[in-house]
Amino acid sequence: MRRLFEDSRYMPTTFSELGLIAPLCRALTDEGYTHPTPIQDKAIPVLLQGGDLLGIAQTGTGKTAAFALPILQWLDEAEGSASQRSASVLVLTPTRELAIQIADSFKTYGRHTKLSCVTIFGGVNQNPQVSKMRRGCDVLVATPGRLLDLMQQGHVRLGGVETFVLDEADRMLDMGFIHDVKKIIAKLPADRQNVMFSATMPGEVAKLAGSILKKHQRVEVTPPATTVERVEQKILFVDKGDKLELLYDLLTEKDVTRAIVFARTKHGANKISDQLGKFGVTSDAIHGNKSQAARQRALKDFRDGKVRALIATDIAARGIDIDDISHIINYDLPNEPESYVHRIGRTARAGATGKALSFCCSEELAYLRDIERVTRSKIEIDGDHKFHAEAVALLHESGNIPKPPKQGRGQRPSGQRPGGKRPSHKPRSNGGQKHRGRGARAQQQHAS
Ligand code: AMP
Repeated sequence: MRRLFEDSRYMPTTFSELGLIAPLCRALTDEGYTHPTPIQDKAIPVLLQGGDLLGIAQTGTGKTAAFALPILQWLDEAEGSASQRSASVLVLTPTRELAIQIADSFKTYGRHTKLSCVTIFGGVNQNPQVSKMRRGCDVLVATPGRLLDLMQQGHVRLGGVETFVLDEADRMLDMGFIHDVKKIIAKLPADRQNVMFSATMPGEVAKLAGSILKKHQRVEVTPPATTVERVEQKILFVDKGDKLELLYDLLTEKDVTRAIVFARTKHGANKISDQLGKFGVTSDAIHGNKSQAARQRALKDFRDGKVRALIATDIAARGIDIDDISHIINYDLPNEPESYVHRIGRTARAGATGKALSFCCSEELAYLRDIERVTRSKIEIDGDHKFHAEAVALLHESGNIPKPPKQGRGQRPSGQRPGGKRPSHKPRSNGGQKHRGRGARAQQQHAS
């Protein structure tokens, strides 16, 4: 069994004790799930009763099954069939990867029941989706943009929706989907069951929850915006121009078996992947400019272990459900602290442990401070980075952000790096100490 309950004093019940019917319990046994996770334990009884629910839970907690199982149960009991172009259940989720994963979960858990599930997302030809919707379906899993588009063209009607699930609500907001979401909600029948999940609860999401949910139960498995505890987190201070070299060093270490590297921009992700390729490290970039087929191929190669690193932007990586990710590497620190929480949640899934290594150059110190404030924790500084340790100690003590170091001797002029040179395979002159590229030395010169 996966170790979803480790480190907790939680005494799990069984799925049948929660009131789930035999065909669902059988599918869960097929999957090797022996007990509900805490979010499932709390949410399933509420949803089986038909109540509204607000779930504060991150991906990796088992939240998909927490809403999918009760829905499958009532669909099985209802035995109704949706009318043309309609669905009985609508699940809205921010990304196509998540939409595919959620639909897969419905199919997996509902394999011993009769279930029709359609997935709608952008970036691909709409015709297959339109033709699947013609007959109607039990469960429609969709991203907001394409759904709205198909609704406006008259291919999808929402008048028959009985249960509405809004997944990753905070992400919807981050990604600017909130207006689309509101337009979609306006087309739902007033009498319906509502389920909303969010990893964090910024004010805007709370407002949205207030407008959607009726008398509801709130279930929470981790405090909002706190960092996944099982993830070992480190900060690695580095010159901006030396990030690539540091990344190369890390990716060639033995314990980095499967890493997601986060870049701030799509262009940056491509560039990192190209440069790594030149140095003989296989990686693939995944972001919104890639076709759906390319993204799926990249995910498959990553899953199959053909590529060691996936270079991703926040949006593309959202909801990637791949177990055994050994490392999250923040090549660029996110400017939104919540994104940090989401990013590191990609590792330590299904009870495993993982490492999150964050690069931080002088311009990113303010982001680090925000992350530490929101996660209410201090991130440990990688021990090999003495100079940087001092810089951050300063930051911690005073709350002031040290000024960016001035351009000085030993620092490459901008434009010359990164990627101009192949990183050295040879042991370093500092006795093989790790993560102390030329950037660390350059900064030591600044300090002197
Ligand atoms: P989620 O948070 O829904 O993305 O789920 C995270 C991972 O946990 C997925 O890989 C699920 O297959 C797995 N999972 C969900 N529920 C259970 C359970 N009760 N026991 C073991 N694994 C589970």
